[in-house]
Amino acid sequence: MYFIANWKMFGSLNSINSLNKVDHFLKRFKKNRFVKIIVCPPSTLINPMHKKFKKTLIRIGAQNCHENENYGAFTGSINSRMLKNAGAKFVIIGHSENRRSGETNKLINLKIKSALKSGLKIIFCIGETIHEKRKKITKKVLIKQIDLGLSGIKTKKDIIIAYEPVWSIGTGVIPRERDLEASIEFIKKRFRKNKVLYGGSVNPKNILKLKSINNIDGFLIGAASQDPKKFIDIIKKTYN
Ligand code: PEP
Repeated sequence: MYFIANWKMFGSLNSINSLNKVDHFLKRFKKNRFVKIIVCPPSTLINPMHKKFKKTLIRIGAQNCHENENYGAFTGSINSRMLKNAGAKFVIIGHSENRRSGETNKLINLKIKSALKSGLKIIFCIGETIHEKRKKITKKVLIKQIDLGLSGIKTKKDIIIAYEPVWSIGTGVIPRERDLEASIEFIKKRFRKNKVLYGGSVNPKNILKLKSINNIDGFLIGAASQDPKKFIDIIKKTYN
């Protein structure tokens, strides 16, 4: 199972200490290579967190990158090569919060290609809006996001898919069990060898329901992952 923490634009150098609690808890999984913990903090914390946790089960990821893997005059941007150099092993690409601010499928495709070239693994986010769900075009939307986002990418082994219905992110609302199962199965059919995760308001209360979804390989967790107690609780309850 994957547990990916998306800290979004939260966290300071002090948060590194709070992650110690997670590291301490994870010691019980030391010999269990099937538990994968990836923490994606803001870029400012990637290197200090990488240094602090490199000998632990915690892997560090980034939350986005520029599409150009070469250095260039792009004020305020960070590319995949820099993230890799700072210690990131993964990068989230296609998050709905970025799609909402103008990231197109084409741009997402360029970002994925550049991040793969830099040697990062991809956490590729897809998901329908509430409007698309009501129009019953979820599958059509997912196909489009997948086909355009991964266009021209032959080797997909370093790509994890995170299915995140946009209406579920930060709202406390999760999909009905049968709808979520259908979406996960639909994605799995296209990516038999890839991990498919669910993201959207995962918390210690709803994890018992979510963990029983057929074929689910883990979770991308936003708000609840910023609190070490809740993050630990989610992992604990998944295995109890
Ligand atoms: C996310 O931002 O990817 C996410 C799933 O957020 P939340 O868990 O807060 O809904």
